[in-house]
Amino acid sequence: MSGMLYLVPTPIGNLSDISPRCRETLANADFIAAEDTRVSLRLLNHLDIKKPLVSYYEHNKEQSGPKILARILEGETCALVSDAGSPAISDPGEDLVRLCAEAGVTVCAIPGPCAAITALSISGLPTGRFTFEGFLSTNKKNRQAHLQGLMGEERTMIFYEAPHKLTGTLQDLASAFGADRRISLCRELTKLHEEVLRMSLAEACAYYKEQEPRGEYVLILEGASKAPEEEITVDTALSMVRSRMEQGLSRKDAVKEVSKVTGFPKNALYEAALSEL
Ligand code: SAM
Repeated sequence: MSGMLYLVPTPIGNLSDISPRCRETLANADFIAAEDTRVSLRLLNHLDIKKPLVSYYEHNKEQSGPKILARILEGETCALVSDAGSPAISDPGEDLVRLCAEAGVTVCAIPGPCAAITALSISGLPTGRFTFEGFLSTNKKNRQAHLQGLMGEERTMIFYEAPHKLTGTLQDLASAFGADRRISLCRELTKLHEEVLRMSLAEACAYYKEQEPRGEYVLILEGASKAPEEEITVDTALSMVRSRMEQGLSRKDAVKEVSKVTGFPKNALYEAALSEL
């Protein structure tokens, strides 16, 4: 009879956030698959648990995944952990879950710490409908394509970001969604210097011109408001066209996109763009 794969979430800062069930699962597993065995060893030492560790991360998952599956099929139980938070959420695990599920292995996810959900719940922005966007690409073209795909998105959006990329990302968000859009910057969650800043994108850009970003961030971005068509003036539509042209879109493509997002008539907008921009 085959064993099982458990997904075990680990603290994103505060070690007390490990649950009794997670601790028990780690203690009962035959072996633990870890993103970084040194990081997980520190946690296991803290929990006073001694278990064989195998490495499973982005750059060895092709080799390591099938080996883990083979052990589970022989009857062993594996607990998968990442460096922090929920495995498989912007972390290795997605492929191992698929591999195990396809082989008929039972996969059990234990609920626990996840930076995205922790940040969303304290953001002060609507939580009824949201979309998880993970990290924006560092490749300029892919990043722009990602942001363009979110034009008109009405749900609250969740992004992960590293401190050294925060300033650039805030500027890109402001040019894509407008300086007035609300954002909650959730930093160092569950840690000593936990902080939530709730402001507009313009204010966030200005703040981080003065302040060096520190620690890990989750960005919660307000969705687009459903503005009635008649409220969109030609000036507003033209400023949206201008900002897209500044980002490198042709006049024609910028008009097409703004017309799609706002419902403003395309031909009228193109005429206005020809004479004004
Ligand atoms: N699987 C993890 C989870 O469930 O949250 C996410 C892993 S992802 C590689 C790491 C990113 O999560 C960081 O760059 C940051 O954006 C976010 N993050 C993790 N811990 C955080 C914390 N304590 N405070 C704020 N953001 C955090």
